[in-house]
Amino acid sequence: MPKYQLSKSTFIRGLQCEKSLYLHKKHYNLKDPTSPFLQAIFDQGNSVGILAQSLFLGGVDASPESHFKVYDSVGKTKSFLDQGEEIIYEATFLHDGVIVALDVLVKDARGWKAYEVKSSTSVSETYVKDAAIQYYTIVNSGIDLKDISIVYINNQYVREGKLKIDELFTIESVKDRVLEYLPVIPNEVSRLKRVIEKTSAPDVEIGTHCSKPYVCDFKGTCWKNIPEYSVFNIANLKTTKKFNFYNKGIVTLDQIELSESTLSPNQILQVQSEIEGTSYIDKDQIRKFTSNLRYPIYYLDFETIGPSIPIFEGSKPYQQLVFQYSLHIQEVSGSTTIHKEYLADPKEEPRIRFVEQLIKDCSNIGDILVYNIGFERAKLNDLIEVFPQYSNDLRGIIKRLKDLMIPFQQKWYYTPEMRGSYSIKQVLPALVPELSYNDLEINEGGNASNTFLSMVNGTFKGNESQTRKSLLEYCKMDTYAMVKIVEKLNEIK
Ligand code: SF4
Repeated sequence: MPKYQLSKSTFIRGLQCEKSLYLHKKHYNLKDPTSPFLQAIFDQGNSVGILAQSLFLGGVDASPESHFKVYDSVGKTKSFLDQGEEIIYEATFLHDGVIVALDVLVKDARGWKAYEVKSSTSVSETYVKDAAIQYYTIVNSGIDLKDISIVYINNQYVREGKLKIDELFTIESVKDRVLEYLPVIPNEVSRLKRVIEKTSAPDVEIGTHCSKPYVCDFKGTCWKNIPEYSVFNIANLKTTKKFNFYNKGIVTLDQIELSESTLSPNQILQVQSEIEGTSYIDKDQIRKFTSNLRYPIYYLDFETIGPSIPIFEGSKPYQQLVFQYSLHIQEVSGSTTIHKEYLADPKEEPRIRFVEQLIKDCSNIGDILVYNIGFERAKLNDLIEVFPQYSNDLRGIIKRLKDLMIPFQQKWYYTPEMRGSYSIKQVLPALVPELSYNDLEINEGGNASNTFLSMVNGTFKGNESQTRKSLLEYCKMDTYAMVKIVEKLNEIK
């Protein structure tokens, strides 16, 4: 069997950046490690792909035993076709040095149809190109494809009782868009094959393509000369504007001529604060904010999971579902706090007990202080929809919410250590350097979410009781951080 040079994924990689394709083929060892967050996305994608196969029941599977035996799949697919099989999962084809594995190939009364499954909720331009390279390879392998479709998740689906696969997925034909793109494919394939044959990496500068359509996994190599804090860290600055600076040789913040730049007032504050090492504190606004707080204060933080396939009754794909909270209660300013918390049992529906305990723990007087009110408020509103019997109590909680993020978002309090961000992860070390998330085993929300989701899905590997403790510690730190931040704000006279 002739060797393949390109696959569907390396074709897409090469379209994004020739250097990325070259490094992937010739210097794989330079690749950045896959983060647990990215791995969780890949895992979700795999389970969505397997689930979507049940839209086409009774097929045969041409998957290889391992990634290295991909050629076997080409042979298996050919045998299945020869045997008259009409539904083939992972049907694999090789033509002119390009190999593609299609999620599902189906023959019906009209002829052969191709289905590629994506765990996203819409069809992107990249998916069309991805379908186009499949179409090109499959058709040139002798299959007369009548149609090619993307199967993706319908984010309006609400689970009621048993999962309804045909409602969970949307099937959209992309044949017309594929046919429009098709004429350029032979040239693109030849161009990318020439890249692979080069003896040194193509000379490609970093640019917006490093993150579009995917974050490149060679950034650790190509971006190694960009300092940890640079123009790329200016908050809310468009990527094109960041590259405008970079292309003029401006990399660090002190190289920016503020008089000539088109930065916003907050961006100027960030740059000036860094250059001069100065903090900015609007004492009037801070005093107004702290004097408006009504004790007892309930410092509250939620953690959520967003499974692609809705697991629980009344939930939609990717809907953020609460599974944990931490609550510090402070009777008067500066007094010691009482801590309460909830962490769901991964084997049970997490929300009902969450709601019942939250209502009890929050009592009915005093402000409830959160960090980024939009998030907690939206989750409470979702809970009202699912558990209308608790709507009065939950509305009462919503009415008491106040947002500790405001002083930092509004830049009433800004220090160079915040590096343009008002996330609690940046604000805490800037105000309370002795307190840190760094020593925690779970130290950011995405990690907490993925960990709990893996427990729910039954894919968690490790010591569950120890990890539950880590989850509790992490969430507790979020609300304790808020207590300490308020303490700091209260010191401003
Ligand atoms: S980091 Fe950017 S320039 Fe480097 S290989 Fe990736 S996309 Fe290309």
